[in-house]
Amino acid sequence: MSGLVLIGPPGAGKGTQAKILQKRLGIDHISSGDLLRAAIATGTSKGRDAKRYMDRGELVPDDLVVSLIEERLIEDAARAFLLDGFPRTVRQAETLADMLARKGRSIDAALSLDVPTDELVARLGGRRTCRTCGAMFHMVFDPPRSPGVCDRCGGELYQREDDNEETIRARLRVFEKQTQPVLEHYAKQGKLRAVDGRGTPSEVSERVVAIIGDAR
Ligand code: AMP
Repeated sequence: MSGLVLIGPPGAGKGTQAKILQKRLGIDHISSGDLLRAAIATGTSKGRDAKRYMDRGELVPDDLVVSLIEERLIEDAARAFLLDGFPRTVRQAETLADMLARKGRSIDAALSLDVPTDELVARLGGRRTCRTCGAMFHMVFDPPRSPGVCDRCGGELYQREDDNEETIRARLRVFEKQTQPVLEHYAKQGKLRAVDGRGTPSEVSERVVAIIGDAR
């Protein structure tokens, strides 16, 4: 296996599934959202540029996100990887294919995590993330043992700035308009695999693993 991409609207569980798959399959997890948030946290110029778009729930420009992904893919050039949140536009998908082809690699399959809109909004509004280890919780569906504190490492839990109702709605519209065409792009290549994203993280990961088994 060379590479997989995980596509889904915000709240579909991309990050959660990617972390489970990273452990189960020993593949490299590359999240464009995490790379962007890290660039913001370290105060780089790319981070400053990206923040303006992210705060509004819009996509950051293709060139910016492509450059971060390319740096990261070069670091681990030989390992199988799972891209989470990238590509989000057809142009990103095409650039990715070119980037990989230069190294004799390609995407094996694009997994589409499907979850109804009402459930996405409920999931995102209650989402909390650990500042220290990145573990994710949900105020209702998966609450931490003590409020505001990570069960795993004791770190502080925070709500992402873009997880407020208005920005969530904007991100869902952006998905419909800009990322749905990416699903069609992979469908045309025969690489699209749809996964029912409803249920618990382990139920969903069982479905994902069954599908990846076929793609390998
Ligand atoms: P995520 O953590 O995947 O939900 O991404 C959070 C935000 O980062 C998105 O709402 C976008 O503003 C930005 N972002 C992440 N990945 C991409 C991408 N592939 N292209 C453009 N913007 C992105």
